Amino acid sequence: MLRALRSVVGEEHVLVDPDVVASHVVDWTGGFVGSSPAVVRPGSTDEVAEVVAACRRDRIALVPQGGNTGLVGGGVPLAGEVVLSTSRLAGITEVDADAGQLTAGAGETLAAVQRAAAGAGWRYGVDLAARDSATIGGTVATNAGGLRVLRHGTTRHQLLGVEAVLGTGDVVSRLGGLVKDNTGYDLAGLLCGSEGTLGVVTRVRLALVPAPGPTVTSLIGLATVADAVSLVGHLRRAVPTLEAAELVLADGARLVAEQTGVVPVLDPVPPVQVAVEAVGPPDPTDALAAALEAHPGVLDVAVATDAARAVALWHVREAHTEAIARLGVPRKYDVTVPSPRLARFVEQVPDLIRAVDPDAQVWIFGHLGDGNLHVNVTTPSGPGPPRTGPLRTGRAGVARDAVADAVLGRVVADGGSVSAEHGIGTAKRSWLVRDRSAGDVAGMRAIKAALDPDGILNPNVLL
Ligand SMILES: Cc1cc2nc3c(=O)[nH]c(=O)nc-3n(C[C@H](O)[C@H](O)[C@H](O)COP(=O)(O)OP(=O)(O)OC[C@H]3O[C@@H](n4cnc5c(N)ncnc54)[C@H](O)[C@@H]3O)c2cc1C
Repeated sequence: MLRALRSVVGEEHVLVDPDVVASHVVDWTGGFVGSSPAVVRPGSTDEVAEVVAACRRDRIALVPQGGNTGLVGGGVPLAGEVVLSTSRLAGITEVDADAGQLTAGAGETLAAVQRAAAGAGWRYGVDLAARDSATIGGTVATNAGGLRVLRHGTTRHQLLGVEAVLGTGDVVSRLGGLVKDNTGYDLAGLLCGSEGTLGVVTRVRLALVPAPGPTVTSLIGLATVADAVSLVGHLRRAVPTLEAAELVLADGARLVAEQTGVVPVLDPVPPVQVAVEAVGPPDPTDALAAALEAHPGVLDVAVATDAARAVALWHVREAHTEAIARLGVPRKYDVTVPSPRLARFVEQVPDLIRAVDPDAQVWIFGHLGDGNLHVNVTTPSGPGPPRTGPLRTGRAGVARDAVADAVLGRVVADGGSVSAEHGIGTAKRSWLVRDRSAGDVAGMRAIKAALDPDGILNPNVLL
């Protein structure tokens, strides 16, 4: 098999040195650790197609891997799969400044795409804290959300076309950037969010949004999450160019201060903070100030109209993931909760978790504007051994499932989603059938069987 792969991509792009392979078999959290005989790095769509065909011939499973910043154990080989790294599928081509579109190789980072968009006088509508490592192919494969979904939607909303190699080995390619294009099934939309289970995305065509004008960022202190939900609803009506509304709770803000040594902007730390950003033109500063004045319950406000100060305000929200990771491997539950139930969910979930794991520390933050909460759970004694296979067994596994039951069970009961933006991966596979109907899952299985008939692409992810 390795000989076949070498003949496709060249000897130097089939990595077998254990030290090199090691960095590709553990995920960002350190919670998922697998093993792999090799990391193969094709340099073009044709090479990807040949790699997939060779693996299909020999029934060898592949895990596509971009920046390996995924948080649900979907991009690491937990059952000894070959890793297909997209690192050489780079290049940003065909930047169309009139249409506001560009084509990027799947291995380009999100930050590189953002820079290319800015260079053409536009902006890419998706942003998230892992921007320097996450690849554009990975963000398409996971339908990444992030900070600006409120205004610009998820990755799927920016996606005009993809080039990809299906599990059959067939190449699909539609990169013309046609905004109106109803000739047949929307394969790009289907591959978006498919987590590498249907095809390997090799190139993407993206729509851009207008470059930002005057920008105002604000950190707002409040007494309760219910006040925060109400404030965001009010701001969305009063400031139409609002693009981010992020939730931070007091214990998370204090953790960020402790772990990073950065003094909190709002001091004393209020029970709840909302970080908001609105982007002109027109300059949204006065509209935001008036809206905040008109809303009851605002305890404290910090405002930034320049980039450096905005970074300082964002720190308390953006540093959450890293600050929590420093406590050890967290259990992560990325969920959407319907707005009317969100405040009660935030209030009750810590008690539900502690009822099954009394030592648990619970950290809740997230994208309040779209109801997406990140519930992270750490344990002072550490998380137990990492997950080394797609199914977890043993005593630690039982405890972990009880916490998942507590959090995700409540999400399902509340009519939410057990995966808001990170995907199902291997982490939440057993939850797909509890969140989606039997008919939904049967439809997904039929699609998988058609596009990846031998089940060689990410066989342990999603379904
Ligand atoms: C600090 C931090 C902050 C984050 N913030 C957010 C956030 O706000 N919003 C959000 O949505 N996510 C967030 N994430 C999660 C992560 O960054 C996203 O899921 C991102 O889209 C993953 O991109 P990646 O290139 O790292 O993909 P990987 O981790 O390499 O892979 C993720 C999944 O996509 C598949 N895949 C990767 N590339 C391809 C390809 N070319 N073709 C087919 N399948 C592929 C993999 O098999 C895997 O199933 C965050 C992560 C970190 C570490």
